[in-house]
Amino acid sequence: MSDATIPTAEAAGGEPIGPERTALADEAAGLDAADPLRAKRAAFTLDDTVYLDGNSLGALPRAVPPRLADVVAREWGELRIRSWEESGWWTAPERIGDRVARLIGAGPGQVVVGDSTSVNVFKAVVAAVRIAQQRGAHRDQILVDEATFPTDGYIAESAARMTGCTVLPVAAGDVPAAVGARTAVVLVNHVDYRTGRLHDLPGTTAAVHAAGALVVWDLCHSAGALPVGLDAHGVDLAVGCTYKYLNGGPGAPAYLYVARAHQPRFDSPLPGWNSHADPFGMASAYTPAGGAVRGRVGTPDILSMLALEAALEVWDDVPIEDVRAKSLALTDFFLRCVERYVPAGRVRSITPTAHAERGSQVALRCAAAGEAGEPGGAGVTAEAGGAGEVMTELVRRGVVGDFRRPDVLRFGFTPLYTGFAEVERAARVLADVLREG
Ligand SMILES: *Cc1c(COP(=O)(O)O)cnc(C)c1O
Repeated sequence: MSDATIPTAEAAGGEPIGPERTALADEAAGLDAADPLRAKRAAFTLDDTVYLDGNSLGALPRAVPPRLADVVAREWGELRIRSWEESGWWTAPERIGDRVARLIGAGPGQVVVGDSTSVNVFKAVVAAVRIAQQRGAHRDQILVDEATFPTDGYIAESAARMTGCTVLPVAAGDVPAAVGARTAVVLVNHVDYRTGRLHDLPGTTAAVHAAGALVVWDLCHSAGALPVGLDAHGVDLAVGCTYKYLNGGPGAPAYLYVARAHQPRFDSPLPGWNSHADPFGMASAYTPAGGAVRGRVGTPDILSMLALEAALEVWDDVPIEDVRAKSLALTDFFLRCVERYVPAGRVRSITPTAHAERGSQVALRCAAAGEAGEPGGAGVTAEAGGAGEVMTELVRRGVVGDFRRPDVLRFGFTPLYTGFAEVERAARVLADVLREG
């Protein structure tokens, strides 16, 4: 965006914000020029839209279409069944798992790709309860992040019924105080999908271990956005999806991490033939494979899986620490632009300001027009409609975030392809939409 296209004070009802807009736009240009990840944007198919929804569906990496075309035309079309061996289809879940592993701080042989996050939550929670109950049958409680993405909670409930446990909802920050001798497993979202709050993985994991329980982390909103350090922090099990910050494509297969130390005791509740020690032996009795393979179930979804593999190439030369640094810079800058541009009282960030508590998104509660500054309401209405309409208008003007009922505008920041000038533009368009009512 050049300065010439930046509207000045007349649109702002007389507020002297014109020069400030210019200063922030200049600052954005400087930040973009100094950004070590800037060139990565060219590895994605993007347009003039400011795409701030990569925390729901990552953009398309350019490496994917030609790779998928080859998989379909040659590997499937010409080699047909030979591709299970000759094209490496059979071992894709472990091979691609190792590629994801680097991004979440896991050594090789502990991550397997396949199924959905929901299915992997089921495998992880049931298997973790089984391990915990080998330590003591009195462990009959599953603590679940009370603000969890709903699927995790639903599945934990079912896992609890199957294993004779009860589910206790607990705020992620209260886990260290709540975990105890009856806890089997704790299931926590690393980053809250609604507020963007980053939870304390090292501290929580240590507290769960001190109580003799196991922890399962859901990394859907952290993998590809910040360092996770699964091995370094001694995490037991983890799951995550690959279609958000990892850009694997709609419905891309999820992953399951089982720490090496737990693998011999990982007793899958879905012991399909792909996790058998000798799948082609077609034995009637089940003998689990060793290692990460034990987390597999049935025949992998090869087209989606190989699209994901191509999508992951873009990370090969990217230090995750650089991603984190840029993510924080982007969200800091967005918050500053919003504060400067948006009329007072119209939005309030529910994303923590402390870096140690922030993921890679900003969530703004949005007051409906006319309700700004209402006493006791913190300037925010709980009524639906306002924020949803604001997001619809933002999308119409080329700024794509998403809306979570009742009143939350979510903006995801994907450091590989989001630039600072786009962030400034998003905040400016948001201010325009809110000012125009
Ligand atoms: C996106 C997301 C999921 C999605 O689960 P699917 O099985 O892929 O639909 C699960 N958990 C969290 C925390 C998420 O953010």
